[in-house]
Amino acid sequence: MRGRWVKPEEITDELLNELPIGARQLYIWLRNYADDQGLFADSPNEVHLAVFPGHSYPVEAWIDLLVATGKLTRMVVTTGRHRTKRVVFVKNFPKHQIIQRPSQPKWGYVTDCAPIPVPALDQRLALIDRYQLPAADTDLAREFPQPTRVPCESCGRPGDLYRFDPLRGAHPEWDGTVAAARLEIVTAADAPDGVAVLCRACRASQHPIDIPPPTALFGGVEIESAAGTPTAEEAAAAEATITELNPKLGQTTSRPRKRRPDIPDGEIVKVFEAWKEHAGKTSRVVLDEKRTRLIKKLLGSYTLDEALLAVEGWKYHPFYNGETYGRVWSELHIVLRDAQHIEMFRDIATAVHDGLPLPDFHTAKKQAAAVGDFTGQHSGVGEM
Ligand SMILES: [Zn+2]
Repeated sequence: MRGRWVKPEEITDELLNELPIGARQLYIWLRNYADDQGLFADSPNEVHLAVFPGHSYPVEAWIDLLVATGKLTRMVVTTGRHRTKRVVFVKNFPKHQIIQRPSQPKWGYVTDCAPIPVPALDQRLALIDRYQLPAADTDLAREFPQPTRVPCESCGRPGDLYRFDPLRGAHPEWDGTVAAARLEIVTAADAPDGVAVLCRACRASQHPIDIPPPTALFGGVEIESAAGTPTAEEAAAAEATITELNPKLGQTTSRPRKRRPDIPDGEIVKVFEAWKEHAGKTSRVVLDEKRTRLIKKLLGSYTLDEALLAVEGWKYHPFYNGETYGRVWSELHIVLRDAQHIEMFRDIATAVHDGLPLPDFHTAKKQAAAVGDFTGQHSGVGEM
Protein backbone atom coordinates (compact mmCIF):
# COMPACT_ATOMS: atom_id res chain seq x y z
CA MET A 1 0.00 0.00 0.00
CA ARG A 2 1.21 3.50 -0.77
CA GLY A 3 0.25 7.04 0.17
CA ARG A 4 -2.06 8.67 -2.39
CA TRP A 5 -3.90 11.88 -3.02
CA VAL A 6 -7.65 12.25 -2.70
CA LYS A 7 -8.90 15.23 -4.67
CA PRO A 8 -11.91 17.20 -3.37
CA GLU A 9 -13.71 16.78 -6.70
CA GLU A 10 -13.66 13.03 -6.16
CA ILE A 11 -15.41 13.38 -2.80
CA THR A 12 -18.15 15.53 -4.30
CA ASP A 13 -18.37 13.60 -7.59
CA GLU A 14 -22.08 13.32 -8.42
CA LEU A 15 -21.95 9.80 -9.74
CA LEU A 16 -19.87 8.44 -6.86
CA ASN A 17 -22.44 9.97 -4.52
CA GLU A 18 -25.08 7.69 -6.02
CA LEU A 19 -23.08 4.58 -5.12
CA PRO A 20 -23.14 2.72 -1.78
CA ILE A 21 -20.80 4.20 0.82
CA GLY A 22 -18.80 0.94 0.81
CA ALA A 23 -18.14 1.20 -2.92
CA ARG A 24 -17.02 4.82 -2.48
CA GLN A 25 -14.70 3.83 0.37
CA LEU A 26 -13.33 0.99 -1.75
CA TYR A 27 -12.74 3.39 -4.66
CA ILE A 28 -10.62 5.65 -2.44
CA TRP A 29 -8.61 2.79 -0.94
CA LEU A 30 -8.01 1.10 -4.28
CA ARG A 31 -5.64 3.97 -5.09
CA ASN A 32 -3.53 2.96 -2.09
CA TYR A 33 -3.76 -0.65 -3.18
CA ALA A 34 -2.85 -0.06 -6.85
CA ASP A 35 0.75 0.04 -8.04
CA ASP A 36 2.37 3.23 -9.34
CA GLN A 37 0.72 2.69 -12.74
CA GLY A 38 -2.74 2.67 -11.14
CA LEU A 39 -3.09 -1.06 -11.78
CA PHE A 40 -3.95 -3.98 -9.54
CA ALA A 41 -4.50 -7.67 -10.26
CA ASP A 42 -8.09 -8.53 -11.19
CA SER A 43 -8.40 -10.90 -8.23
CA PRO A 44 -11.34 -9.72 -6.13
CA ASN A 45 -10.47 -12.05 -3.25
CA GLU A 46 -7.01 -10.55 -2.91
CA VAL A 47 -8.46 -7.05 -2.94
CA HIS A 48 -11.02 -8.07 -0.33
CA LEU A 49 -8.37 -9.50 2.00
CA ALA A 50 -6.13 -6.46 1.61
CA VAL A 51 -8.70 -3.69 1.82
CA PHE A 52 -11.54 -5.05 3.98
CA PRO A 53 -9.96 -7.92 5.94
CA GLY A 54 -12.40 -9.75 8.17
CA HIS A 55 -15.52 -8.18 6.66
CA SER A 56 -18.12 -9.97 4.58
CA TYR A 57 -18.79 -6.97 2.35
CA PRO A 58 -19.64 -7.56 -1.33
CA VAL A 59 -16.24 -6.27 -2.47
CA GLU A 60 -16.28 -8.18 -5.75
CA ALA A 61 -19.68 -6.73 -6.68
CA TRP A 62 -18.49 -3.24 -5.73
CA ILE A 63 -15.49 -3.62 -8.04
CA ASP A 64 -17.85 -4.63 -10.85
CA LEU A 65 -20.10 -1.69 -9.98
CA LEU A 66 -17.13 0.70 -10.24
CA VAL A 67 -16.27 -0.93 -13.59
CA ALA A 68 -19.87 -0.45 -14.77
CA THR A 69 -19.75 3.24 -13.88
CA GLY A 70 -16.42 3.72 -15.65
CA LYS A 71 -14.43 4.54 -12.50
CA LEU A 72 -12.38 1.39 -13.01
CA THR A 73 -11.39 -0.29 -16.26
CA ARG A 74 -10.74 -4.00 -16.64
CA MET A 75 -7.67 -4.56 -18.78
CA VAL A 76 -5.48 -7.32 -20.04
CA VAL A 77 -1.74 -7.25 -20.47
CA THR A 78 0.67 -9.67 -22.11
CA THR A 79 3.15 -10.98 -19.55
CA GLY A 80 4.82 -13.68 -21.59
CA ARG A 81 4.80 -15.30 -24.96
CA HIS A 82 1.47 -17.06 -24.44
CA ARG A 83 0.54 -15.63 -21.08
CA THR A 84 -1.74 -12.76 -20.27
CA LYS A 85 -2.75 -11.23 -16.98
CA ARG A 86 -6.00 -9.51 -16.17
CA VAL A 87 -5.65 -6.28 -14.28
CA VAL A 88 -7.88 -3.42 -13.19
CA PHE A 89 -6.97 0.20 -13.89
CA VAL A 90 -8.06 3.07 -11.67
CA LYS A 91 -9.11 5.35 -14.49
CA ASN A 92 -8.28 8.75 -13.04
CA PHE A 93 -5.08 7.59 -11.39
CA PRO A 94 -2.56 9.14 -13.82
CA LYS A 95 -4.50 12.39 -13.80
CA HIS A 96 -4.68 12.79 -10.02
CA GLN A 97 -1.64 11.05 -8.54
CA ILE A 98 1.79 12.60 -8.39
CA ILE A 99 4.38 9.84 -8.27
CA GLN A 100 7.89 11.07 -7.51
CA ARG A 101 9.82 7.83 -7.85
CA PRO A 102 7.59 5.25 -9.51
CA SER A 103 8.44 1.66 -8.71
CA GLN A 104 9.01 -0.86 -11.48
CA PRO A 105 5.59 -1.83 -12.85
CA LYS A 106 4.54 -5.27 -11.67
CA TRP A 107 2.59 -6.30 -14.76
CA GLY A 108 3.45 -3.60 -17.27
CA TYR A 109 2.87 0.02 -18.05
CA VAL A 110 -0.75 1.01 -18.38
CA THR A 111 0.03 2.11 -21.94
CA ASP A 112 0.70 -1.56 -22.75
CA CYS A 113 -2.62 -2.82 -21.37
CA ALA A 114 -5.67 -3.31 -23.58
CA PRO A 115 -9.09 -2.45 -22.16
CA ILE A 116 -11.64 -5.28 -21.99
CA PRO A 117 -15.02 -4.22 -23.43
CA VAL A 118 -17.80 -4.20 -20.84
CA PRO A 119 -21.58 -4.16 -21.39
CA ALA A 120 -23.35 -0.82 -21.33
CA LEU A 121 -25.44 0.08 -18.29
CA ASP A 122 -28.78 -0.58 -20.01
CA GLN A 123 -27.56 -4.03 -21.05
CA ARG A 124 -26.80 -4.77 -17.42
CA LEU A 125 -30.23 -3.48 -16.43
CA ALA A 126 -31.80 -6.08 -18.73
CA LEU A 127 -30.66 -8.68 -16.19
CA ILE A 128 -33.17 -7.32 -13.65
CA ASP A 129 -36.02 -8.82 -15.69
CA ARG A 130 -34.12 -11.91 -16.74
CA TYR A 131 -33.37 -12.94 -13.15
CA GLN A 132 -36.19 -11.12 -11.30
CA LEU A 133 -33.73 -9.15 -9.17
CA PRO A 134 -35.75 -7.52 -6.36
CA ALA A 135 -35.69 -3.74 -5.82
CA ALA A 136 -34.41 -2.52 -2.47
CA ASP A 137 -37.18 -0.96 -0.36
CA THR A 138 -35.19 0.76 2.38
CA ASP A 139 -32.17 3.07 2.40
CA LEU A 140 -30.14 0.42 4.19
CA ALA A 141 -31.06 -2.17 1.56
CA ARG A 142 -29.97 0.25 -1.16
CA GLU A 143 -26.60 0.61 0.60
CA PHE A 144 -26.30 -3.16 0.98
CA PRO A 145 -28.43 -4.90 -1.66
CA GLN A 146 -29.00 -8.61 -1.11
CA PRO A 147 -27.44 -10.94 -3.69
CA THR A 148 -29.53 -13.17 -5.95
CA ARG A 149 -28.02 -16.59 -6.59
CA VAL A 150 -27.63 -17.10 -10.35
CA PRO A 151 -26.01 -19.96 -12.31
CA CYS A 152 -23.38 -19.49 -15.02
CA GLU A 153 -25.44 -19.48 -18.21
CA SER A 154 -23.14 -22.05 -19.75
CA CYS A 155 -21.98 -24.52 -17.09
CA GLY A 156 -24.31 -23.78 -14.17
CA ARG A 157 -21.62 -22.89 -11.64
CA PRO A 158 -23.29 -20.57 -9.09
CA GLY A 159 -22.52 -16.91 -8.48
CA ASP A 160 -24.34 -13.77 -7.37
CA LEU A 161 -25.95 -10.78 -9.03
CA TYR A 162 -26.53 -7.54 -7.15
CA ARG A 163 -29.03 -4.91 -8.17
CA PHE A 164 -27.78 -1.43 -7.29
CA ASP A 165 -30.53 1.19 -7.31
CA PRO A 166 -29.89 4.96 -7.21
CA LEU A 167 -29.40 6.18 -3.65
CA ARG A 168 -30.59 9.75 -4.02
CA GLY A 169 -31.80 9.84 -7.59
CA ALA A 170 -30.00 13.15 -8.06
CA HIS A 171 -27.88 12.13 -11.05
CA PRO A 172 -29.88 12.55 -14.25
CA GLU A 173 -28.31 9.61 -16.06
CA TRP A 174 -27.83 7.16 -13.25
CA ASP A 175 -30.59 4.60 -13.14
CA GLY A 176 -28.72 2.01 -11.15
CA THR A 177 -27.10 -1.10 -12.56
CA VAL A 178 -26.46 -4.79 -12.00
CA ALA A 179 -23.08 -6.10 -10.85
CA ALA A 180 -21.79 -9.63 -10.43
CA ALA A 181 -19.66 -11.64 -8.02
CA ARG A 182 -18.04 -14.99 -8.90
CA LEU A 183 -19.56 -14.47 -12.35
CA GLU A 184 -18.99 -11.97 -15.13
CA ILE A 185 -21.45 -9.89 -17.07
CA VAL A 186 -20.10 -10.22 -20.59
CA THR A 187 -20.90 -8.54 -23.90
CA ALA A 188 -22.09 -11.37 -26.18
CA ALA A 189 -23.67 -10.68 -29.56
CA ASP A 190 -25.47 -14.04 -29.60
CA ALA A 191 -27.06 -13.68 -26.14
CA PRO A 192 -30.43 -12.00 -25.41
CA ASP A 193 -29.98 -8.20 -24.98
CA GLY A 194 -26.38 -8.78 -26.10
CA VAL A 195 -25.34 -9.72 -22.60
CA ALA A 196 -24.43 -13.06 -20.97
CA VAL A 197 -23.69 -14.07 -17.39
CA LEU A 198 -20.75 -16.46 -17.31
CA CYS A 199 -18.17 -17.80 -14.92
CA ARG A 200 -14.58 -16.82 -15.65
CA ALA A 201 -13.70 -20.19 -17.15
CA CYS A 202 -16.65 -20.14 -19.58
CA ARG A 203 -15.92 -16.52 -20.41
CA ALA A 204 -12.34 -17.40 -21.28
CA SER A 205 -13.34 -20.34 -23.47
CA GLN A 206 -16.42 -18.84 -25.18
CA HIS A 207 -15.64 -15.13 -25.37
CA PRO A 208 -11.85 -14.93 -25.32
CA ILE A 209 -10.54 -11.44 -24.86
CA ASP A 210 -8.95 -9.98 -27.97
CA ILE A 211 -5.74 -8.19 -27.30
CA PRO A 212 -4.98 -5.44 -29.79
CA PRO A 213 -1.37 -4.73 -28.86
CA PRO A 214 -0.95 -0.96 -28.58
CA THR A 215 2.65 -1.34 -29.68
CA ALA A 216 1.62 -3.02 -32.91
CA LEU A 217 -0.74 -0.44 -34.31
CA PHE A 218 1.42 0.95 -37.03
CA GLY A 219 -0.75 1.65 -40.03
CA GLY A 220 -3.42 -0.50 -38.42
CA VAL A 221 -1.30 -3.52 -39.25
CA GLU A 222 -0.53 -5.96 -36.50
CA ILE A 223 3.19 -6.51 -36.80
CA GLU A 224 3.30 -9.15 -34.12
CA SER A 225 0.40 -10.91 -32.44
CA ALA A 226 0.45 -10.23 -28.71
CA ALA A 227 -1.14 -13.57 -27.98
CA GLY A 228 1.64 -15.54 -29.62
CA THR A 229 3.98 -15.78 -32.51
CA PRO A 230 2.42 -15.11 -35.92
CA THR A 231 2.57 -17.86 -38.49
CA ALA A 232 5.09 -17.52 -41.30
CA GLU A 233 2.38 -16.41 -43.77
CA GLU A 234 0.98 -13.86 -41.32
CA ALA A 235 4.41 -12.44 -40.72
CA ALA A 236 5.15 -12.26 -44.45
CA ALA A 237 1.78 -10.61 -45.15
CA ALA A 238 2.29 -8.06 -42.38
CA GLU A 239 5.80 -7.31 -43.58
CA ALA A 240 4.56 -6.84 -47.14
CA THR A 241 1.81 -4.44 -46.03
CA ILE A 242 4.21 -2.46 -43.91
CA THR A 243 6.70 -2.19 -46.75
CA GLU A 244 3.89 -1.05 -48.99
CA LEU A 245 2.86 1.60 -46.47
CA ASN A 246 6.37 2.86 -46.05
CA PRO A 247 9.12 1.33 -48.18
CA LYS A 248 11.80 2.66 -45.83
CA LEU A 249 10.39 0.65 -42.94
CA GLY A 250 10.71 -2.73 -44.57
CA GLN A 251 14.40 -2.13 -45.00
CA THR A 252 15.10 -0.86 -41.54
CA THR A 253 13.25 -3.62 -39.75
CA SER A 254 14.75 -6.52 -41.65
CA ARG A 255 18.35 -5.34 -41.97
CA PRO A 256 20.60 -7.16 -39.52
CA ARG A 257 22.68 -4.69 -37.58
CA LYS A 258 26.02 -4.75 -35.89
CA ARG A 259 26.61 -3.21 -32.50
CA ARG A 260 28.64 -0.05 -32.75
CA PRO A 261 31.61 -0.30 -30.42
CA ASP A 262 32.40 3.39 -29.95
CA ILE A 263 29.70 5.98 -29.45
CA PRO A 264 30.92 9.58 -29.75
CA ASP A 265 29.85 11.72 -26.79
CA GLY A 266 28.61 14.32 -29.25
CA GLU A 267 25.94 11.91 -30.51
CA ILE A 268 24.75 11.16 -26.98
CA VAL A 269 24.38 14.85 -26.24
CA LYS A 270 22.60 15.38 -29.56
CA VAL A 271 20.00 12.70 -28.75
CA PHE A 272 19.59 14.02 -25.23
CA GLU A 273 19.06 17.58 -26.45
CA ALA A 274 16.52 16.38 -29.03
CA TRP A 275 14.60 14.45 -26.38
CA LYS A 276 14.69 17.47 -24.05
CA GLU A 277 13.21 19.64 -26.75
CA HIS A 278 10.45 17.18 -27.71
CA ALA A 279 9.55 16.61 -24.08
CA GLY A 280 9.46 20.36 -23.46
CA LYS A 281 12.00 20.01 -20.65
CA THR A 282 13.73 23.01 -19.16
CA SER A 283 17.47 23.44 -18.68
CA ARG A 284 17.12 21.95 -15.19
CA VAL A 285 17.10 18.50 -16.78
CA VAL A 286 20.53 16.93 -16.65
CA LEU A 287 22.23 14.22 -18.64
CA ASP A 288 23.00 11.92 -15.73
CA GLU A 289 24.59 8.50 -15.73
CA LYS A 290 21.33 6.63 -16.16
CA ARG A 291 20.20 8.71 -19.13
CA THR A 292 23.67 8.47 -20.67
CA ARG A 293 23.52 4.69 -20.35
CA LEU A 294 20.09 4.54 -22.00
CA ILE A 295 21.14 6.71 -24.94
CA LYS A 296 24.43 4.84 -25.30
CA LYS A 297 22.53 1.57 -25.49
CA LEU A 298 20.18 3.07 -28.04
CA LEU A 299 23.05 4.31 -30.21
CA GLY A 300 24.71 0.93 -29.86
CA SER A 301 21.96 -0.68 -31.93
CA TYR A 302 20.53 2.15 -34.00
CA THR A 303 21.91 4.92 -36.15
CA LEU A 304 21.92 8.50 -34.90
CA ASP A 305 19.01 9.33 -37.24
CA GLU A 306 16.96 6.45 -35.89
CA ALA A 307 17.77 7.44 -32.32
CA LEU A 308 16.64 11.00 -32.97
CA LEU A 309 13.37 9.67 -34.39
CA ALA A 310 12.86 7.34 -31.43
CA VAL A 311 13.05 10.17 -28.88
CA GLU A 312 10.51 12.11 -30.94
CA GLY A 313 7.91 9.50 -31.98
CA TRP A 314 6.28 9.09 -28.54
CA LYS A 315 4.83 12.58 -28.73
CA TYR A 316 2.49 11.55 -31.56
CA HIS A 317 1.15 8.54 -29.65
CA PRO A 318 -1.93 9.39 -27.57
CA PHE A 319 -1.06 6.90 -24.83
CA TYR A 320 2.25 8.66 -24.24
CA ASN A 321 1.52 12.32 -25.00
CA GLY A 322 -1.21 12.62 -22.38
CA GLU A 323 -4.26 12.56 -24.67
CA THR A 324 -5.59 9.20 -23.50
CA TYR A 325 -4.57 8.98 -19.87
CA GLY A 326 -4.16 12.63 -18.89
CA ARG A 327 -0.50 12.14 -18.13
CA VAL A 328 2.57 12.40 -20.30
CA TRP A 329 4.97 9.46 -20.30
CA SER A 330 8.05 10.94 -21.89
CA GLU A 331 10.85 9.82 -19.56
CA LEU A 332 13.72 8.17 -21.39
CA HIS A 333 13.52 4.93 -19.42
CA ILE A 334 9.93 4.54 -20.65
CA VAL A 335 10.39 5.67 -24.24
CA LEU A 336 13.58 3.67 -24.75
CA ARG A 337 12.72 0.70 -22.59
CA ASP A 338 13.03 -2.01 -25.23
CA ALA A 339 13.52 -2.57 -28.94
CA GLN A 340 9.79 -2.89 -29.58
CA HIS A 341 9.10 0.59 -28.19
CA ILE A 342 12.16 2.18 -29.73
CA GLU A 343 11.19 0.85 -33.15
CA MET A 344 7.55 1.81 -32.72
CA PHE A 345 8.45 5.41 -31.88
CA ARG A 346 11.06 5.54 -34.65
CA ASP A 347 8.48 4.31 -37.17
CA ILE A 348 5.85 6.76 -35.97
CA ALA A 349 8.24 9.72 -36.29
CA THR A 350 9.34 8.48 -39.72
CA ALA A 351 5.72 8.36 -40.84
CA VAL A 352 5.10 11.88 -39.55
CA HIS A 353 8.18 13.24 -41.33
CA ASP A 354 7.21 11.49 -44.56
CA GLY A 355 3.67 12.83 -44.35
CA LEU A 356 2.30 9.29 -44.29
CA PRO A 357 -0.99 8.56 -42.55
CA LEU A 358 -0.34 8.21 -38.85
CA PRO A 359 -0.67 4.84 -37.17
CA ASP A 360 -4.22 3.85 -36.46
CA PHE A 361 -4.20 5.05 -32.86
CA HIS A 362 -7.79 6.06 -33.19
CA THR A 363 -8.99 2.48 -32.96
CA ALA A 364 -7.04 1.92 -29.79
CA LYS A 365 -8.07 5.26 -28.41
CA LYS A 366 -11.72 4.67 -29.16
CA GLN A 367 -11.57 1.30 -27.47
CA ALA A 368 -10.01 2.86 -24.41
CA ALA A 369 -12.58 5.65 -24.41
CA ALA A 370 -15.56 3.35 -24.90
CA VAL A 371 -14.55 1.27 -21.93
CA GLY A 372 -13.70 4.25 -19.80
CA ASP A 373 -16.91 6.07 -20.54
CA PHE A 374 -19.93 5.86 -18.33
CA THR A 375 -21.81 3.57 -20.67
CA GLY A 376 -20.05 3.92 -23.97
CA GLN A 377 -23.03 5.98 -25.08
CA HIS A 378 -23.26 8.84 -22.60
CA SER A 379 -19.77 10.05 -23.17
CA GLY A 380 -18.27 12.10 -20.42
CA VAL A 381 -20.72 11.40 -17.59
CA GLY A 382 -18.21 9.26 -15.77
CA GLU A 383 -15.55 11.92 -15.97
CA MET A 384 -14.41 13.72 -12.92
ZN1 LIG B 1 -19.39 -21.48 -16.54
